[in-house]
Amino acid sequence: MENITASELAGFGVGALLLCATISAPKVDAFIAASQRRSLGMCKKCGDLRMIACLRCKGSGLVRKEGLFGFSMVDDLYQLFQGDGIKSSFIKCSKCLSKGHLPCPECSKTV
Ligand SMILES: [Zn+2]
Ligand SMILES: [Zn+2]
Repeated sequence: MENITASELAGFGVGALLLCATISAPKVDAFIAASQRRSLGMCKKCGDLRMIACLRCKGSGLVRKEGLFGFSMVDDLYQLFQGDGIKSSFIKCSKCLSKGHLPCPECSKTV
Protein backbone atom coordinates (compact mmCIF):
# COMPACT_ATOMS: atom_id res chain seq x y z
CA MET A 1 0.00 0.00 0.00
CA GLU A 2 2.94 2.27 0.53
CA ASN A 3 4.03 2.03 -3.07
CA ILE A 4 3.05 5.06 -5.08
CA THR A 5 1.44 3.86 -8.26
CA ALA A 6 1.97 5.42 -11.63
CA SER A 7 -1.56 6.80 -11.66
CA GLU A 8 -1.03 8.39 -8.26
CA LEU A 9 2.12 9.97 -9.57
CA ALA A 10 0.24 11.18 -12.60
CA GLY A 11 -2.44 12.58 -10.34
CA PHE A 12 0.17 14.41 -8.35
CA GLY A 13 1.63 15.74 -11.58
CA VAL A 14 -1.74 17.02 -12.70
CA GLY A 15 -2.26 18.60 -9.30
CA ALA A 16 1.06 20.37 -9.59
CA LEU A 17 0.18 21.49 -13.08
CA LEU A 18 -3.14 22.86 -11.86
CA LEU A 19 -1.31 24.70 -9.09
CA CYS A 20 1.02 26.19 -11.67
CA ALA A 21 -1.96 27.11 -13.81
CA THR A 22 -3.51 28.89 -10.84
CA ILE A 23 -0.33 30.78 -10.16
CA SER A 24 0.01 31.78 -13.79
CA ALA A 25 -3.71 32.51 -14.03
CA PRO A 26 -3.30 36.06 -15.35
CA LYS A 27 -1.37 34.66 -18.29
CA VAL A 28 -3.97 32.00 -18.92
CA ASP A 29 -6.72 34.56 -18.48
CA ALA A 30 -5.14 36.71 -21.12
CA PHE A 31 -4.96 33.75 -23.45
CA ILE A 32 -8.55 32.77 -22.81
CA ALA A 33 -9.66 36.36 -23.06
CA ALA A 34 -8.08 36.59 -26.48
CA SER A 35 -9.95 33.57 -27.76
CA GLN A 36 -13.13 34.77 -26.07
CA ARG A 37 -12.83 38.13 -27.75
CA ARG A 38 -12.69 36.40 -31.08
CA SER A 39 -15.76 34.29 -30.36
CA LEU A 40 -17.66 37.22 -28.89
CA GLY A 41 -16.92 39.32 -31.94
CA MET A 42 -14.93 41.80 -29.93
CA CYS A 43 -12.02 43.55 -31.52
CA LYS A 44 -9.10 41.16 -31.41
CA LYS A 45 -6.64 43.98 -31.66
CA CYS A 46 -7.73 46.01 -28.68
CA GLY A 47 -10.48 44.03 -26.99
CA ASP A 48 -12.93 46.88 -27.60
CA LEU A 49 -10.78 49.32 -25.70
CA ARG A 50 -10.82 51.30 -28.95
CA MET A 51 -7.19 52.15 -28.52
CA ILE A 52 -3.86 50.46 -29.05
CA ALA A 53 -0.38 51.26 -27.83
CA CYS A 54 1.49 53.54 -30.17
CA LEU A 55 4.07 51.53 -32.08
CA ARG A 56 6.29 54.48 -32.80
CA CYS A 57 6.90 55.49 -29.20
CA LYS A 58 5.99 52.12 -27.65
CA GLY A 59 3.38 53.79 -25.50
CA SER A 60 5.79 56.19 -23.85
CA GLY A 61 4.68 59.22 -25.82
CA LEU A 62 8.27 60.13 -26.56
CA VAL A 63 10.44 59.29 -29.53
CA ARG A 64 14.04 59.89 -30.34
CA LYS A 65 14.53 62.89 -32.51
CA GLU A 66 16.64 61.00 -35.02
CA GLY A 67 15.56 57.54 -34.00
CA LEU A 68 12.78 56.89 -36.48
CA PHE A 69 15.01 55.39 -39.11
CA GLY A 70 17.42 53.52 -36.92
CA PHE A 71 20.00 54.18 -34.28
CA SER A 72 21.88 57.39 -34.27
CA MET A 73 24.70 56.76 -31.87
CA VAL A 74 26.93 59.31 -33.51
CA ASP A 75 24.29 62.00 -33.22
CA ASP A 76 23.73 61.14 -29.57
CA LEU A 77 27.44 61.39 -28.83
CA TYR A 78 27.60 64.61 -30.77
CA GLN A 79 24.74 66.03 -28.71
CA LEU A 80 26.43 64.92 -25.50
CA PHE A 81 29.54 66.83 -26.48
CA GLN A 82 27.41 69.79 -27.38
CA GLY A 83 26.04 69.72 -23.86
CA ASP A 84 22.48 69.12 -24.94
CA GLY A 85 22.23 66.00 -22.84
CA ILE A 86 20.29 62.90 -23.71
CA LYS A 87 16.88 64.26 -22.79
CA SER A 88 16.87 66.69 -25.64
CA SER A 89 17.16 63.84 -28.12
CA PHE A 90 13.63 62.84 -27.22
CA ILE A 91 10.67 64.66 -28.65
CA LYS A 92 6.95 64.21 -28.28
CA CYS A 93 5.61 61.46 -30.48
CA SER A 94 3.84 63.04 -33.40
CA LYS A 95 1.95 59.89 -34.28
CA CYS A 96 -0.02 59.66 -31.05
CA LEU A 97 0.45 63.28 -29.99
CA SER A 98 2.45 62.13 -26.97
CA LYS A 99 -0.49 60.22 -25.58
CA GLY A 100 1.16 56.86 -25.99
CA HIS A 101 -1.86 55.28 -27.61
CA LEU A 102 -3.81 55.54 -30.80
CA PRO A 103 -7.38 54.88 -31.84
CA CYS A 104 -7.64 51.22 -32.77
CA PRO A 105 -7.48 50.89 -36.56
CA GLU A 106 -9.79 47.87 -36.46
CA CYS A 107 -12.49 49.64 -34.47
CA SER A 108 -12.26 52.95 -36.24
CA LYS A 109 -12.76 51.03 -39.46
CA THR A 110 -16.11 49.64 -38.40
CA VAL A 111 -17.43 52.56 -36.36
ZN1 LIG B 1 3.42 57.56 -30.03
ZN1 LIG C 1 -10.09 47.65 -31.78
